[in-house]
Amino acid sequence: MSRLAVIGAGYVGLVNAACLAEIGHDVALVDVDRSKVERLRGGSVDILEPGLEELVRANVSNGRLLATADYEEAIPAAEYVMTAVSTPVGEDGLHDLRALWGAVDSLAPLMSSGATLVLLSTVPPGTTDAAEARLRAAGREDVFAAVQPEFFQEGRAVQDAWSPPRVIVGCRDRARGAAIAQLWRREDVPLLLTDPANAELAKLASNAYLAARISFINEVADHAARVGADITEVAHAMGLDPRIGSRYLSAGLGFGGSCLPKDVQGLSSQMRAMGGEPRMLDAAFAVNQARPEAVIRGLGEHLGSLEGKTVAVLGIAFKPGTSDRRESAAITLARRLASTGARVRATDPTVGPDEAGAVAAEIGGGIEVTDLTAATEGADAVVLATEWPEFVDLDWPRLAQRLAGQVVVDARNVLDREALHNAGLTYVGLGR
Ligand code: NAD
Repeated sequence: MSRLAVIGAGYVGLVNAACLAEIGHDVALVDVDRSKVERLRGGSVDILEPGLEELVRANVSNGRLLATADYEEAIPAAEYVMTAVSTPVGEDGLHDLRALWGAVDSLAPLMSSGATLVLLSTVPPGTTDAAEARLRAAGREDVFAAVQPEFFQEGRAVQDAWSPPRVIVGCRDRARGAAIAQLWRREDVPLLLTDPANAELAKLASNAYLAARISFINEVADHAARVGADITEVAHAMGLDPRIGSRYLSAGLGFGGSCLPKDVQGLSSQMRAMGGEPRMLDAAFAVNQARPEAVIRGLGEHLGSLEGKTVAVLGIAFKPGTSDRRESAAITLARRLASTGARVRATDPTVGPDEAGAVAAEIGGGIEVTDLTAATEGADAVVLATEWPEFVDLDWPRLAQRLAGQVVVDARNVLDREALHNAGLTYVGLGR
C-alpha cells in the first residue's frame, strides 16, 4: 500500500481519494476550502453521489482518509500526489489552469524525492509536460509528472471508479505509468500506457465527440419535426447499427454540466490558437446553444406569446442522479424562458425548502424555486428539463388538475405521450 495525496476535494478528488483509501492506501485529501475540509473530517459529504458518503465516513473513521487544508501535512509523505482541481474555461475560451498551477507551486517544494505528480483533471495537451517543466523550474529534478484523465460520469462516479471501461495513463516513463495504474488494483480493465499528450487529447476528444453526437441528433430532431418523423424512432433505428450505437443519441435540451460544454470550448480554442480550424466543435457548441429555442417554439405554438404566462420547469440539476447544477441546460432554459416575460417556477428533487432561496438567487432572472406542487399549481405549461424518474413517472391525471393550461413540453423526449393524452394534456416533444 502507498501513501498518497489528492489535491482538490470536489467530485473527482473526493471519489478518487475515497476509493483509494478503501483499497487500503493512506490518503491525505487537500482542499483550500477550509469549511469543506471540516465537514469532510466529520464524515459529511456535500455532493450527491451514490455510495460516496458511506465510503468517506468509513475511511475517515478508520484513519485512512485524512482531509486537510495544509499542504505540509499531506505532501511530504506522499509517493503520488494527484491533482483534481477544476479546470474551467476562461474568457479567452481556453482551459484556465490557474488552480492547477497554484497547486503545483504549493506542492513543488514539499514533494518527496522520486514522487510522481499525477494530473487527474481534464487538461489541454501539453499541460503534463508544462507541469514537469514547472517542477524543474522550482528546482525539482527528482520528481516527475504524469496524467491519468478521469472519465467517470456523475451520478455513477463510484461505480465507474471501481470498474471503468478503460484506464489511460500518460507518462513518458512507462514503468512509472504502470505503477500509477496499479494503485487501483483493478483487474480486467483495459489499460493504455501512452505519452501525456495522447492521454490529454484522448480525454478532451472523447468529451467533444459525445457532445457532437448530442448536437448531431438534435439537429436531425429539428428536421424530424419538419418532415413529420419521430426522432426517438429515428435514433433507435440508427443506434441498432453497431457502428453507431445508441448512447448519447437522445435528442432534447442538449448537453450541459461542468465537463462537456467547457471541454468542447477549451479544445476548440486551443485548436484555433494553434492555427487549426475547429469547424465541427464550433458547430456542436452552436447547435447546443440554440436548444432552448426548440422549447420556446414548442410552447409558442400552443400558448402564443409567453409574456405573463406561468411555466413550471421540472428539473434544475444538469442530469438526474446528481445535485450538480453547473452549466445545467435546465437552468439555461429557465433563464431563457424568463427573458421572454414568462413567470418561471423551477423545481428539483435535490433542492429542498432550506436551499430554495439560495438556488433561486444563484439562478437569478426572478425565477422562483419551489417544490413540485407549488411549481405546477395554476401553471399554463410544464417543461420537463431534467429526466428525474420521479418526474418521468408523475401521476399525470393528478398533475393535470393542478394546472391552468394543458401543455407539457418533454424537453428530454422521455415521457409517455399516451399517458399524457389520457390525462387530457397536450404532449409536445422535441422532434417527435
Ligand atoms: P470541483 O470544482 O468539484 O472540485 C475542485 C476542488 O478543488 C474544489 O473543492 C476546490 O476548492 C479545490 N481547489 C481549487 N484550487 C485548489 C488548490 N490550489 N489546492 C487545493 N484545492 C483546490 O471540480 P471537479 O468537478 O471535481 O473537476 C475537477 C477536474 O476533473 C476538472 O478538470 C474536470 O474537468 C475533471 N473531470 C470532472 C468530472 C466530473 O464529473 N465532475 C469528470 C471527469 C473529469
